Amino acid sequence: SRTSTYRQAHQPRRRGAEMAASAEDTLLRSVPTGLFVGGEWRASSNGRSFAVDDPATGSTLAEVADGTAEDAAAAMDAAAEAAGSWARTAPRERSDILRRTFDAVRARADDFALLMTLEMGKPLAEAAGEVTYGNEFLRWFSEEAVRIGGRFGPNPEGTGRMLVSRHPVGPCHLITPWNFPLAMATRKVGPALAAGCTAVIKPADLTPLTTLLLIQVLTEAGLPPGVLNVVTTTDPGAVSGTVIADPRLRKLSFTGSTPVGRRLLAQAAEGVLRTSMELGGNAPFVVFADADVDKAVDGAMLAKFRNIGEACTAANRFIVAAEVADEFTAKVTARVQAMRVGRGTEEGVQVGPLINEKAREKADTLVSDAVGRGAEVVTGGHRVDGPGTFYEPTVVTGVRPGSRILAEEIFGPVLAVATFTDEEEGVALANDTEYGLVAYAYTRDLARAMRLVDALETGMVGINTGVVSNAAAPFGGVKQSGLGREGGLEGIAEYLETRYTLIPDP
Ligand code: NAD
Repeated sequence: SRTSTYRQAHQPRRRGAEMAASAEDTLLRSVPTGLFVGGEWRASSNGRSFAVDDPATGSTLAEVADGTAEDAAAAMDAAAEAAGSWARTAPRERSDILRRTFDAVRARADDFALLMTLEMGKPLAEAAGEVTYGNEFLRWFSEEAVRIGGRFGPNPEGTGRMLVSRHPVGPCHLITPWNFPLAMATRKVGPALAAGCTAVIKPADLTPLTTLLLIQVLTEAGLPPGVLNVVTTTDPGAVSGTVIADPRLRKLSFTGSTPVGRRLLAQAAEGVLRTSMELGGNAPFVVFADADVDKAVDGAMLAKFRNIGEACTAANRFIVAAEVADEFTAKVTARVQAMRVGRGTEEGVQVGPLINEKAREKADTLVSDAVGRGAEVVTGGHRVDGPGTFYEPTVVTGVRPGSRILAEEIFGPVLAVATFTDEEEGVALANDTEYGLVAYAYTRDLARAMRLVDALETGMVGINTGVVSNAAAPFGGVKQSGLGREGGLEGIAEYLETRYTLIPDP
């Protein structure tokens, strides 16, 4: 059973494990734990700090400064003060700083990966994957920094020239979630700095360490004081409330849940701020009768279990054609039963702990609700005993309409299967959600694939693939999944203002 596999991963420490533990301690001691304001590390104004815990063991990894409204105001002052000179830097200089940071993160990839596994829980191999993915935003935007273009042309009347130029929007507030501690930060920091904007970043209190290490690396790469300021806090309302209310702020970029995003949009309306909102998802994973079922199973394992299911892009609803539902379920179940659960640092672990007890409770509640409405648990469906917030990788089939699991983000290793009969019904079920971030579809019919691109109501579509994220592509959602795009050419545009100038002919 998975319980015993899990226990195996927690055997008393062998020699190798002792060495690993000391590597963890050395890394943790090297990560800054203060606020970073105006180029200096400092304690919180009230001297308080908070604990960052390892979700696999419950033990405390570090104590980090607990920023206040006063600290937020100081960070905003620093960002506002640095805004003018940073906006005037040569694009090549900004590009070089980002590129040097990319090189430094790559050189320290093992440290970043281990740190994310420790504070967030994801398996080490996946954390290494996030370093590659997250770091790519720094390289991509280092390349975009020197390609900020404009337009110049005659006006239609032939009496003058029209100049369209692009300028940094100004000081930004960047708010990130805990599930991808590096990538969610670089996806905002990369384009903001490339565009010439300064910022105050507030990472999630569950996983602040990765952002703090990133700041250290950026500083070593030559980022001038005040350009990027960090306020860690357990009181996000007070800190972000202070920054958002500041009349010098020009933009708010948020990644997190839809309810918090909605509240922040209302606050941003007061200052008529530009906003980018990367919110929740409820991705459908549609397997058509003509799909290559083995490939669909491969894609399903990635789309569902990557990041322990704690991804906004995680497949939340498996909508499978009745003709292939039994085959798909049997094959996917065999793969799920072979998964190894444990602390992400242990060799071969594929499923780490959920971020906290609340997250585990949510996954369990959604499974119970589905079962109460007639679904069947094929494998898993329980908490794992012992320390840490582990939940068994789970497959639930025969999920009935009206089940909460079809409407809400599971954010855990639970794969829920419902069936459909024809394309029209499959598409209708896929779109039957308030969210619209990403949809996955498996089919061997090209014409059907092209119909789906038009019919699916999401910002992103994966055809015969379980992962779509790429620094070169515009990432983002429609409906309640948000506003704006991160990555690609679109990503830097969110941090640029357009200015039109008319120059009449003399
Ligand atoms: P969350 O909304 O609880 O928190 C996100 C951030 O907002 C954190 O930094 C948090 O401290 C801060 N926050 C919370 N309350 C706040 C308030 N009142 N005022 C200001 N800031 C506040 O979300 P989470 O649990 O950290 O992350 C999971 C959610 O993020 C999921 O819904 C997931 O789908 C979403 N997400 C979306 C994307 C995307 O790109 N669309 C990517 C990753 C995660």
